[in-house]
Amino acid sequence: MKTTLFDDAMRRLNTAMKYTDLDDEVALRVGTPKSCLEVSVPVRRDDGSLDFFRGYRVRHDDTRGPTKGGLRYHPSVSLDEVKSLAFWMTFKCAVVGIPYGGAKGGISVDAKSLSPMELERLSRGFIRLVADFIGPDVDIPAPDMYTNERIMGWMMDEYSTIRRQHVPAVITGKPVSMGGSVGRSDATGRGAYYCIRELAKKHDLDPASTTVAIQGFGNAGQHVARLLHKDGYRIVAISDSQGAIYRPEGFDIPSLIRTKEETRHVQAVYCDGALCTSIDADTLTNEELLELDVDILVPAALENQITEENAERIKAKYIVEVANGPITSAADEILNANEIEVVPDILANAGGVTVSYFEWLQNRSGEYWELQTVHKKLQTIMSREFKRIYDLHLEIKTDMRTAAYVHAIKRIGETMEAKGTCSYFSKSK
Ligand code: GLU
Repeated sequence: MKTTLFDDAMRRLNTAMKYTDLDDEVALRVGTPKSCLEVSVPVRRDDGSLDFFRGYRVRHDDTRGPTKGGLRYHPSVSLDEVKSLAFWMTFKCAVVGIPYGGAKGGISVDAKSLSPMELERLSRGFIRLVADFIGPDVDIPAPDMYTNERIMGWMMDEYSTIRRQHVPAVITGKPVSMGGSVGRSDATGRGAYYCIRELAKKHDLDPASTTVAIQGFGNAGQHVARLLHKDGYRIVAISDSQGAIYRPEGFDIPSLIRTKEETRHVQAVYCDGALCTSIDADTLTNEELLELDVDILVPAALENQITEENAERIKAKYIVEVANGPITSAADEILNANEIEVVPDILANAGGVTVSYFEWLQNRSGEYWELQTVHKKLQTIMSREFKRIYDLHLEIKTDMRTAAYVHAIKRIGETMEAKGTCSYFSKSK
């Protein structure tokens, strides 16, 4: 039987439960989404025709607070995928200790095929259909793959129109001019970068002699590359959906970011002032990039990239999961056996939702923070939780992923038990 993404997520939860003395009911409760909404969004195309797009919002668990999580626009968006991503959000928020449960949403659409006005109609139409399902104290969406601050701005505006009041805290990742937080746009990449800095301390990695390959050059991939490059790490391979480039001497990341912005493609270039010239580099497929002999591999694209099919061929010493779910649970076992250390997604990419929380706090208090404050608070949380999970994985002798799940489920379970589960009635405790 084919295992779904959600089965895979459950397997990780069940493994983690073995390392806690929490009641089994905790796993049962967190094992099912609280509510799932499926909608069909009508969109009037620019040529006058009418199309419908399927959208979802799943609130997975709200034990620790209102549910939180992004909205993605991608043709592969399905209920199974959104449910798994919502599950991961529950654990991600618990890992970093922010007072939220998990949610996720998405629309099955190729955003690149829509005009900007069609995109706006789709985004506003989606909010009209989910307005009663979300809210600043209920469920707070944010950007994810192929959604951005502009889309979040339209959505906040639409929600405020429906409620007939200004409600900035209903959504995060908005433009700064609409109540967004400074430092939100690079927060996912920056959070991963803080994790890599902690990892480097644990293993005495010297940036200049540490090679890095990054799969995916979207928002998170670009920022993690930029920050590592600034510290002197050698970024030897980068890819986007078209393919990868590889150069053992490393790339000048600002030049790559600039040409990616201008041409939408990853290209091997070096820019000096206004002039960008091509440099020698090998071209690889995305699959080949994953198998490079590098120190740190950063999957920052889609889920299910490292599976039992290719896990045995992975040569990196460390993997830092910037994407959600890039490694399957079957692949975990192979990587563990080969002593490849994985910094799991629910920790490594939690910087985005952490700064979303900062944005929500600022919206609710009406007081806005300086960039340095955002960076400092983010670093404190990421470094603190990295160290806790690192220490826990040594203590309970597991991989870091299991330790991260144990850390998170303990926080969730503690809140459940504090609320009262009534399990003592059945067990006459
Ligand atoms: N979409 C991001 C994630 O997967 C951010 C979610 C948020 O900011 O709520 O973590």
